[in-house]
Amino acid sequence: MGIQEKLSEAVAARRDALVALTQDLIRIPTRNPPGENYRDICDYLDRRLLSAGFRTELIRAEGAIGDSDRNPRWNLVARHEGARPGQCVHFNSHVDVVEVGHGWSMDPFGGEVRDGRVYGRGACDMKGGLAASIIAAEAFIELCPGYAGAIEISGTADEESGGFGGVAHLAEQGYFNPDRVQHVIIPEPLGKDRICLGHRGVWWAEIETKGEIAHGSMPFLGDCAVRHMGAVLREMEDTLYPALARKRTGMPVVPDGARQSTLNINSIHGGEPEQAADYTGLPSPCVPDRCRMVIDRRFLIEEDISEVEAEVREMLETVRRGRPGFDYAIRELHRVLPTMTAREAPVVASVSAAVARVFGHDADFVVSPGTYDQKHIDRIGRLRNCIAYGPGILDLAHKPDEYVGIMDMEQSAQVMALALHDLLQE
Ligand SMILES: [Zn+2]
Repeated sequence: MGIQEKLSEAVAARRDALVALTQDLIRIPTRNPPGENYRDICDYLDRRLLSAGFRTELIRAEGAIGDSDRNPRWNLVARHEGARPGQCVHFNSHVDVVEVGHGWSMDPFGGEVRDGRVYGRGACDMKGGLAASIIAAEAFIELCPGYAGAIEISGTADEESGGFGGVAHLAEQGYFNPDRVQHVIIPEPLGKDRICLGHRGVWWAEIETKGEIAHGSMPFLGDCAVRHMGAVLREMEDTLYPALARKRTGMPVVPDGARQSTLNINSIHGGEPEQAADYTGLPSPCVPDRCRMVIDRRFLIEEDISEVEAEVREMLETVRRGRPGFDYAIRELHRVLPTMTAREAPVVASVSAAVARVFGHDADFVVSPGTYDQKHIDRIGRLRNCIAYGPGILDLAHKPDEYVGIMDMEQSAQVMALALHDLLQE
């Protein structure tokens, strides 16, 4: 029997353990926000990985945004040393899950198994992927105890809220330093035969139009900030949206609709604040003197962030030139540069070869429309040899009755074990 068959068998022999591990992880509710039970899930992973021969470290991201004594941001990093020096492969999974929402037909934290699937919040995004990486590492270590290098597994906080109390903190502490780690696999639910190379960029900004308050019965005595914002919206529709639709990318972004520049209007607020639902009074008559809009612009690797910003400022200047009394302010809220690992990178080559061997067809290369923790590994860790690869159907993430297929997890674990063998040759 070849090593591929042996590794596949060793993973298959752990199917019950894989399911039980996934269930245990789902049963620790790690909703974020607010970021609950991070210590509990880290303690669970700590026990599990210690018994598999890993050294472990519990790290609190003290002082990171979101960290508090009530909801501390705990992270776990576990490392298994091979028999000889070599490179290190790191599997990074976030342990937080999003809110439950409505529409569930079963207990979101029950970990129920039905028809070959494990159900629960976080099953697909991404406790199933975390479980698959642990089983893959255990199977590989059992069969290849003399391997060169090291394997790391981390369970990290806050990916769903930006990753500052998780991977960003670890990267700042040197955990993704290229001297320590050479290959990173993030088992996000991109699909068992797809390799995600990176993500588009993000630019969030707040645009404010200014007016002058006056009595609503005499609006001509004031200046309506909402009408000014209306002019901004008109200019956006007439020029900006068509321009964005023309910017296509060579990045293999999925779904196809995201293979261009996009802009979402996150919110618009103008005039007096909305009152609580139990307020029974009428509004007071005022001309709004402020209107604020938050935009979420996603951009491409072919675009420079300074151009992205300049394009929006130019649009506002166009409105100003054509509209007497128009005054505005713009403020950046958040930025993430796009990233895309080269197809020739070693971790890409090893995982795609493993996909081809397990499934009998080539891996699809994709890029995510939104960002995930790869951004911190790239920007802070300066580590470019990073991909997302893991089981689960991306569309199920954050939905009711979220599940992960048991066979998908098993096959992904086989791919991960084969990739470990390829990267940490005996
Ligand atoms: Zn995720």
